[in-house]
Amino acid sequence: MSSDIVKSTLSNNDIKTPIHLLLLEDVPEDVELILISLTNADLDFTYDIAETATIYTEKLQQNSYDAVLADYRLPGFNGLEALNLLQQSEQKIPFILVTGSLGEEAAVQCMKAGITDYLLKDRLFHLPNILQRSLEEFALRRQQKQALLEQQKAEKALRESEQRFRSLIENAIDIILIISSEGQFIYLSPSVQRILGYDPEQLKNENFFALIHPEDRKRIREVFEITKQKSQDSRLLQEFRVRTHDDNWVMLDAIAKNLQDDPSVAGFVINCHDITERHYTAQQLRYDAYHDKLTGLANRLALIEELEQAIIQNQRRKEDHFALLFLDLDRFKVINDSLGHLTGDQLLQQISKRLQQCHRKGDILARFGGDEFVFLLRDIREIQEAVIVAQRIHEVLKPPLMLNNREVFMSASIGITISGEHYHHPEQILRDADAAMYRAKAKGKACHEIFAPTMHLSALKELHLENDLRQALKRQELVVYYQPIFCFESEKIVGTEALVRWHPPGKSLIPPNDFIPLAEETGLIIEIDRWVLKSACQQLYQWQQTFKGLAPHFISVNLSPKQFSDPYLKDKITEIVDETGLNRQHLKLEITETVCLKNFHTVLDILYQLQQLNIQICLDDFGTGYSSLSYLHRLPLNTLKIDRSFVIHLGQTNKNDAIIRIVGGLAHELQLQLIAEGVEERYQIDALKKLGYQWGQGYYFSPPVDAQAFTILLQKNIDHIVE
Ligand code: C2E
Ligand code: CA
Ligand code: CA
Repeated sequence: MSSDIVKSTLSNNDIKTPIHLLLLEDVPEDVELILISLTNADLDFTYDIAETATIYTEKLQQNSYDAVLADYRLPGFNGLEALNLLQQSEQKIPFILVTGSLGEEAAVQCMKAGITDYLLKDRLFHLPNILQRSLEEFALRRQQKQALLEQQKAEKALRESEQRFRSLIENAIDIILIISSEGQFIYLSPSVQRILGYDPEQLKNENFFALIHPEDRKRIREVFEITKQKSQDSRLLQEFRVRTHDDNWVMLDAIAKNLQDDPSVAGFVINCHDITERHYTAQQLRYDAYHDKLTGLANRLALIEELEQAIIQNQRRKEDHFALLFLDLDRFKVINDSLGHLTGDQLLQQISKRLQQCHRKGDILARFGGDEFVFLLRDIREIQEAVIVAQRIHEVLKPPLMLNNREVFMSASIGITISGEHYHHPEQILRDADAAMYRAKAKGKACHEIFAPTMHLSALKELHLENDLRQALKRQELVVYYQPIFCFESEKIVGTEALVRWHPPGKSLIPPNDFIPLAEETGLIIEIDRWVLKSACQQLYQWQQTFKGLAPHFISVNLSPKQFSDPYLKDKITEIVDETGLNRQHLKLEITETVCLKNFHTVLDILYQLQQLNIQICLDDFGTGYSSLSYLHRLPLNTLKIDRSFVIHLGQTNKNDAIIRIVGGLAHELQLQLIAEGVEERYQIDALKKLGYQWGQGYYFSPPVDAQAFTILLQKNIDHIVE
């Protein structure tokens, strides 16, 4: 290898630049001889000559040479001093003494001082060889020196990087462990002390797995076994909990690397990052994302995800049914508005605690929004099981809640739906359960209702209904139909009931049951009722003008319970009636028992005033609601209208007939007129007559018809009587 270096050095010199020599010689003949010897050897060279120390120093400073050929005896100085000067200079080049004679002593001195070689002037023919050898030696030495320097540099770098690495491990934020294939600690970084509280020295030779949380241990052992079989490059990432010195748990995120084949490690390096904080923050975030802050129940998102799973499960196994209970608190808005939002929040918290009592294992109870809660009931075999849960919910809600030292009664309306093949998305089930809930609400509070497909249609319809209904009022799309009320005895029309319909242009008539509940909810009913009242009074007045004494004696107009929240109700009614010109005594207002539920005294007051103004009052649908006979005594009534349901079942059960008879007797006692509703058959009239009823309305006589048809009816009726 060294000869290669020499070769390349020489060949470099050969090819590129001639050897540049500095001759230190004061005798021109000797210079001549040197040049001849070199030229004879075919050496390619250039040279400078220095005779004195000054010139020599100057030349060394100004030029760079490949070698110095120096005489020993020089004017004013000698070869040793010349060598000295060269050594002091930048140039590290061969220094060859070419001298006439050199005493033994001087020669030794010169060798010691470090001359490269020396040659007697009578042996000048050796000069090219000596020169070449010297140059080679120097080149080699330079190469070696360079190599050595590089080696030193590399060693230094390695030392530094090791140091860095060590201090990195020693001061690491992470824990670095080396464990044996049996799991024994071989090395533990000092960070173990800080993160886990153990003295790393004391843990040496202990078992790594013993520190891992029992729930995570098996998994980590398995991963470790896999790591054992993997090559060096594979890393396995895992999270697990580790017991700290003071018996807490720290969550670590670790990467293990199999370095068994690396003699400097001979084990498994495990780099553990402490993610306790991140883990719990993430856990908290996860928790927050799926829970309702106020009640701690599952939230809408959690419910929807559970529902998705339940749907998939149900599609896989048809017999795995689940049910959804959609629950909406009744009158929550009233409480929230009147007692304030803070109290409203407390109420929701208390309610959610009660609802949790109805919660079975595996079920989900979620707060869906505002005052809406949803139960997802799993493992349901038949809908009846869901109904039982709904009943239980009503039960637990019954006892009063204490809010700000006040007793508050709460109830809920519940819609129930059960899984089925037609459900593919959570929204579909929720929509149906919601529709059923809406129905339950309409039925009265504290009810539950099972979803039926027709509800979906009406729920969809209701979306547009409100807006359309407002427009309908403005565009006069409402029409009043009139149903005659007959006297059984004379078969004469004694009165008529005004019943509203909605006739959107180009569409068929919409019956009141389809829009009245919504109108009541939105308050539009107030306007509708007024419009009906006005139209009805106008109409009767007109018939009176036409038919005089043969016109109906009264017109019945339905009055929504909502109306009674208007303190000016009485004034408004009389104003409308008076404006039409109809005498007030011909107007009968139909109310239902539900008006008595709220503010009974106010209602009573209004009714009395109306009666005093000669307006008649009729209690409608009697027998369906509370049927509290005590109301009957206290309400200022003129007429009692027994509900259709009793008429339908006439003669079918004794109980039914008994009620009809009692009501009939009572009406007599209280001097109330009696009207039977829903008379469809002849036999019903005969039976009713026997039970003391004089008047009735129903399809047997006529369905409700428009004013024009009613006019014809009137005409016929008059003709019939006249006959
Ligand atoms: P309602 O006051 O009990 O009216 C009687 C209902 O029974 C009417 O239904 C009538 O068409 C129906 N009916 C009459 N005879 C028979 C019969 O023989 N058999 C059967 N099956 N049904 C019969 P309609 O017109 O659909 O009205 C339904 C309800 O809508 C009314 O019940 C009333 O509560 C409400 N309503 C109607 N018009 C108004 C109104 O202008 N204002 C208010 N607030 N409610 C109204
Ligand atoms: Ca009525
Ligand atoms: Ca009725």
